[in-house]
Amino acid sequence: MQRILDVLKQYWGYDSLRPLQGEAMASVIEGRDSLTVLPTGGGKSLCFQAPAVAMEGMAVVVSPLIALMKDQVDALQANGVAAACINSSLSNSERYAVDAAIRAGALKLLYVTPERLVQPRFIAYLQRFGVSFIAIDEAHCISMWGHDFRPEYRGISVLKEQFPGIAVHAYTATATPQVRNDIIQQLNLDAPDVHVGDFDRPNLNYKVRQRSDRMGQLTAVIDTHPGESGVVYAISRKDVEEIAAALNQRGYRAIAYHAGMGDHDRKTNQEAFLREEVDIIVATVAFGMGIDKSNVRYVVHAAMPKSLEHYQQESGRAGRDGLEADCVLLYSGGDFGLWSRILQNDEGEGSAIAAQKLRDMFDYCGSVACRHATLVQYFGQPWTKAKCGACDVCNGEIETMAGAEEIAQFICRAVQGVEQRFGAQYVAGILAGKADARVHQNGHDDLPEFGKLGSHTQRAVRGWIEQLVAQGYLEKAGEYGVLQLTANGDRVLRGEPDVPVVLTESAPSKRGGKRAAAAAGADWEGVDRELFEALRTLRRETAQAQGKPPYIVFGDRSLRDLARKRPSSAAALLAVHGVGRQKAKDYGETFLAAIMDYCSERGMAMDVGLDAGFEMAAPASARTKPTAKDFAFDLFRSGCSIADVCEQTARAETTVSGYLAEFIEAEGRTDGDPWVDAATVARVYEAVQTVGMEKLKPIHSQLNGEVDYTAIRIAVACIQNASDEAAAG
Ligand code: ADP
Ligand code: ZN
Repeated sequence: MQRILDVLKQYWGYDSLRPLQGEAMASVIEGRDSLTVLPTGGGKSLCFQAPAVAMEGMAVVVSPLIALMKDQVDALQANGVAAACINSSLSNSERYAVDAAIRAGALKLLYVTPERLVQPRFIAYLQRFGVSFIAIDEAHCISMWGHDFRPEYRGISVLKEQFPGIAVHAYTATATPQVRNDIIQQLNLDAPDVHVGDFDRPNLNYKVRQRSDRMGQLTAVIDTHPGESGVVYAISRKDVEEIAAALNQRGYRAIAYHAGMGDHDRKTNQEAFLREEVDIIVATVAFGMGIDKSNVRYVVHAAMPKSLEHYQQESGRAGRDGLEADCVLLYSGGDFGLWSRILQNDEGEGSAIAAQKLRDMFDYCGSVACRHATLVQYFGQPWTKAKCGACDVCNGEIETMAGAEEIAQFICRAVQGVEQRFGAQYVAGILAGKADARVHQNGHDDLPEFGKLGSHTQRAVRGWIEQLVAQGYLEKAGEYGVLQLTANGDRVLRGEPDVPVVLTESAPSKRGGKRAAAAAGADWEGVDRELFEALRTLRRETAQAQGKPPYIVFGDRSLRDLARKRPSSAAALLAVHGVGRQKAKDYGETFLAAIMDYCSERGMAMDVGLDAGFEMAAPASARTKPTAKDFAFDLFRSGCSIADVCEQTARAETTVSGYLAEFIEAEGRTDGDPWVDAATVARVYEAVQTVGMEKLKPIHSQLNGEVDYTAIRIAVACIQNASDEAAAG
């Protein structure tokens, strides 16, 4: 395990494991078959990647999509891990290079499609080169019970037989027990270790709203995340096109993605999103599998998906970096109807399963129970917390209606009054007092319920009907969604429901809602926002120059940590979250330079919070030793040069010149000798007369950039002391 932790630090720059990663990795290292179920963003890939690096030989990873493979291989290579993929998109020369690496025993991870892995020639080929283990990513694709069954996955059931003695490990985010058992059976796993993670994603803030003004509700969410990446899901291609166009018209940087577009356009648009050339991608379900972009800050569903599995997976694309993100779902009863009609065209054994999944999804929308709790329980896990702190229900954002019970009673009576033969829109019309020809013809304008809710709009009443359906008081039957009373609905009629009826304000409040999850504040603690933005731009430029997506360069978490710790040296850089040796080597110089410029222009402290680490790394006996700064002061006192002090304290020049400025101030020195000569101090003094000494940059410009920041900083300290003296004298 120590070896794994070393590998993790060296290649990934991570200091600790997430829940269950340790257990899952132990199964791999110890060669026992395993199934690991972690929610999206839970860190499944690392469970096989880190052991693959630590173990002898080459691990083979089965993955369903070329895009998914490419993304993972890119990310691994950026971390300095020898990984490659073999698939139909490779050119001959690329293919040749991969083959050579395999023969040389240089590869640690090889990604392949299921179709390829089961070809006898390929199996024989692999067996010659020492396979350490086989990992099956997105393993639910093998199960009919899952939501993404792929027939080609069925073929890999031969692996246990074809690779005798080699452990097979399966990974998925789909946790229902049926799928879990099916995976184990289909893959013929041998007494596998089963690791099922916590399905809650505490950093996601869930909200559900009835859809009233689609664009208004959508832009309200987007506006709380200016310049950040977000995904908007819609059901149809037409909706996707419309929403994307409307967003662009309003000045947002959005792009469309759906299966009706050509491969080329789809790829171009996806890349534009990954590279952050646009902020928003508007997409159908076709988008997302294999998108590892870790810094998606919000996912909005402009319409309801057809199952909670889909919802969990799609909303789960937000906040994979563990930082707070918003998941907002806009729904209407019409979405339910639309999906019902689509599903009715599907035949076969799957259709009953699909209909139930759709119902569960719709129930979730109208429910007034904690969203986190509902999702976790749906995926077969107990919920033990009282309040999640990150959903609309727990945060009290759902405005419940006074007099809900009475409204529910009117609605149920109206349903009874029309003899349970009409749909929601019709019943809503009656209650709102809309006497169209059909109502009149049916004599329903004579019902006692006619116009009973006349002070509300038909749309509002319709919304409450949908909520009653979602909460199980009413049911929709048949093709036309005819409203029927359930047993619970009967109890409402009699005025004795099991639990008090709760209805929410149908027209959602204007605001997009409170922003972000419970832990949000802490994630930005100590982060210099301006520097963060500057580094974000640098990240985009760096990525662009290399033709890579920005999050492959550094994740948001690393970026925040850079803007918090503000490292001044390569050693300090390695203490930043998510920075391993390879990234320090590839990007260190560029980012350190930018941070240094930024900090020296503002005279801002660097290596924040790193002294503690510096000391902790030393043996316990050394803890009472002076800090690097005390040490530097001693050295300055004995007249050491900046370069000498840098070397002796292992600190960067900016940090050391900062120490020197503090030293000069503390000692009250008015001349910069031996660090800055009198002539330079005089020049700086002259510049200060015109531009002041609040900021160093104007002085630098005033002197045409001829005096470096270090010298300016020290000169300013001397001038400050001199003027203090003059004032005192
Ligand atoms: P999954 O495949 O389960 O959806 P990933 O493997 O893509 O999740 O991991 C999600 C994100 O979390 C990635 O950016 C990954 O690098 C990061 N991550 C995984 N494990 C750790 C860890 N132990 N410490 C910090 N970050 C981690
Ligand atoms: Zn909650």
